[in-house]
Amino acid sequence: MLAASLASPGTLTLDRRPLPALGPRDALLTVEATTLCGTDLRIVTGQKTKGVTPGVILGHEIAARVWRVGSALTPGVDVPAPGTQVGLAPEIACGHCEPCTAGRSNVCASMALFGTGVDGGLAEVIRVPARALACITPTAREIAPPLLALAEPLSCCLRATTRLPITEGTRVLVLGTGPIGLIHCALAASAHASVMACGRPNRLSPALALGAQVTTASQGDDLVAEVRDWTGGAGADVVIIAVGDPGLVPVAAQCAAIGGSVSCFAGFPAGALAQIDPNLVHYRELTVSGSANATLADYAAAVTALSTGALDLSALITHEFALTEVDAALDAVRSRVGLKVAVLPERTPSPGHH
Ligand SMILES: [Zn+2]
Ligand SMILES: [Zn+2]
Repeated sequence: MLAASLASPGTLTLDRRPLPALGPRDALLTVEATTLCGTDLRIVTGQKTKGVTPGVILGHEIAARVWRVGSALTPGVDVPAPGTQVGLAPEIACGHCEPCTAGRSNVCASMALFGTGVDGGLAEVIRVPARALACITPTAREIAPPLLALAEPLSCCLRATTRLPITEGTRVLVLGTGPIGLIHCALAASAHASVMACGRPNRLSPALALGAQVTTASQGDDLVAEVRDWTGGAGADVVIIAVGDPGLVPVAAQCAAIGGSVSCFAGFPAGALAQIDPNLVHYRELTVSGSANATLADYAAAVTALSTGALDLSALITHEFALTEVDAALDAVRSRVGLKVAVLPERTPSPGHH
């Protein structure tokens, strides 16, 4: 099969290799689509090495179809029957550490991840080992594979927003209009919140398309003033930091209303520090929260939301490539030419790419 793996930090290799072996309690899935994100780029360029297995097949936002099921498994009971369209949650939690037993398998102390520690979705076939069978999540009805792959970033956003006080009329400020910020806009809008998005000028129209009512490219004090204007002086009830810029943390606190919540959703550069005026937290009774990865329940909710059509993220998929064009796909992520970039193993290469 064809697979894109990390030969060494900084070098992605596309090669043919034997199909993965099917153990008695494993399953093999054919990959229908894998969407790429900034994490993939950081692994390919060697910026991220923590938890990365040398030679691993990349790709953690995976839409697939059950192909073969190990001899010790009962199809339809232990694993969806062959032919079923499924999403594959990338988080393989241990199930018995303290976070896992406390319902926080998303921050499992010995987490393994498809596409980082375990072979991922940039291949024609992916092996799901016995300990990860619960990651296989069937769709409610079949949908376009690139859209199904978005269940992964959506699950991380759901992990945050289901624990934030977002309901009808909540004033939500989303800082950052990359794909993650745009998903937050869509989620808040689907809860009938009022949404203001702040980001790069060329990403403001996608933010409007995905559900933001107001957009701005302002920063710092100008942004704080605009948020005050937008909310009649009160500030935002919920501020979601969806880009890993530590300088946004104090701004987010200044944008929050009395009783407001600030979510540090993004990952920040290692060692980064941010300062908040503690009297803002004190006098405005702010809540500062965090969120990382997703539980299997979050992932299942994401697959359901997408495959029932409850949430429409199709505007996010702007680029599709064949697996043979994976370098061009990564370039499209690097140059931020579009929003989400999908790699489809079955796709015929487009004539323009080599
Ligand atoms: Zn990702
Ligand atoms: Zn664990």
